[in-house]
Amino acid sequence: MSECIFCRIVAGDFSTNFVAESEHAVAFNDIEPAQPVHVLVVPKTHFTDVADLAAKNEEVLLDLIKLGTRVAAEQTAGDFRLQFNTGAGAGQTVFHAHGHITSRSPKA
Ligand code: 5GP
Ligand code: ZN
Repeated sequence: MSECIFCRIVAGDFSTNFVAESEHAVAFNDIEPAQPVHVLVVPKTHFTDVADLAAKNEEVLLDLIKLGTRVAAEQTAGDFRLQFNTGAGAGQTVFHAHGHITSRSPKA
């Protein structure tokens, strides 16, 4: 069994509700939302961070970013951030690559 929390979420171990899914990535709500919209986009396979992902698999990287922009289009009024905290010093706490979609402006 994987010790990586996001690998386990991807595998369905916690029956997490995926708000969107693509070939290579899933999207689910952050457990501690910092803004009214706070969705994580997570590759289905394990990469340590976005730099590791970009170095190893551009197809998955592109798919992940496109899933993030699709979630933003579905859930926000159009103003959003797509953020990849990379390294502990930058606030990364889960070492499975993920992007945060955050927005103060949910879709009406
Ligand atoms: P980081 O700090 O690594 O950029 O982001 C990790 C994010 O994952 C945090 O915003 C945290 O709230 C979220 N998170 C950590 N564990 C879980 C979990 O088990 N479920 C969900 N949905 N989010 C989680
Ligand atoms: Zn993982």
